[in-house]
Amino acid sequence: MRDLRISVTDRCNFRCTYCMPREVFDAGYRFLPHDAILSFEEIAQLARVFVGLGVQKIRLTGGEPLVRRHLHRLVAMLKELEVELTLTTNGSLLAKHAAALKKAGLDRVTVSLDSLDDATFRAMNDADFPVAEVIAGIEAAADAGLGPVKINMVVKRGVNDHGIVPMAERWRGTGHIIRFIEYMDVGSTNGWRMDEVVPSAEVIGRISKKWALAAIDPNYPGEVAERWRYADGAGEVGVISSVTQAFCSSCTRMRLSTEGSLYTCLFAQTGHDLKRLLRGGASDDVLRNEIAAVWQRRADRYSEIRTSQTSSLKKVEMSYIGG
Ligand code: SAM
Repeated sequence: MRDLRISVTDRCNFRCTYCMPREVFDAGYRFLPHDAILSFEEIAQLARVFVGLGVQKIRLTGGEPLVRRHLHRLVAMLKELEVELTLTTNGSLLAKHAAALKKAGLDRVTVSLDSLDDATFRAMNDADFPVAEVIAGIEAAADAGLGPVKINMVVKRGVNDHGIVPMAERWRGTGHIIRFIEYMDVGSTNGWRMDEVVPSAEVIGRISKKWALAAIDPNYPGEVAERWRYADGAGEVGVISSVTQAFCSSCTRMRLSTEGSLYTCLFAQTGHDLKRLLRGGASDDVLRNEIAAVWQRRADRYSEIRTSQTSSLKKVEMSYIGG
């Protein structure tokens, strides 16, 4: 157990068609009520237990983490645990919050950005949000000292794959790292189809036609992105291939949902309720034993056994569990 991802809200100001389709997450959708979600104090207490069990890196996510008010206060509380602290965001509110997050102790950010083409981007986020503001957020984060910024692009064939090479070109030589993510069958609302996945090998093939690439070693065992560097020294790109090259066997991640359930896999169908223990007054020792038992029992290997049948299983939504 090395990484903990904490979802701080199930709400988002975007409605990315592959993640929170507007037909499902509409005005009638029931997001979690305030008293169901973990407070910052509860998150910090659990995080301390996880760090005691070996977690070295915490990533805050959601939903959109920056729609949770006063997030910098949670960052400051987690910083006391002396772990690497990162945040995944859609970037829409980053220009506003980057400096405060840095000051509170955030180390780095990852920004999701699916297209540089404004019309394609607005259609994919389905909130009519302009690409220029996300780019301003990326720049604000770098200026605040939250770099190198990682930029994640989910590639969907026929939707934004024409933007792979322009996206690589935009970030070459900037010090930021673009990573291309295979479109996944997370949750059960996005109508995933295998033929919409662009395999990472194809992504690397398309980029290397223009600039020579060489594979480089992972930064640490279990790193999800496969890294490549430009032979001309213009930096690196990454690919995350959870569909075509499953990495279940080296997975070191746990996920804590907004309402305090623990998930051992992004494709899980059920979680383990830690909030009940926490609110029942459980000591850190009791929490530690419970978390350790869940980790030791885990047998998840969804990405290794994925078929067109498994993709229709009722899995937890990514906006709830956190990306
Ligand atoms: N709102 C934040 C954001 O946009 O980064 C954090 C949460 S979001 C669920 C985390 C990441 O999951 C984003 O990069 C998003 O593009 C990615 N994601 C969501 N659904 C996906 C899917 N079906 N396949 C691959 N990546 C997905």
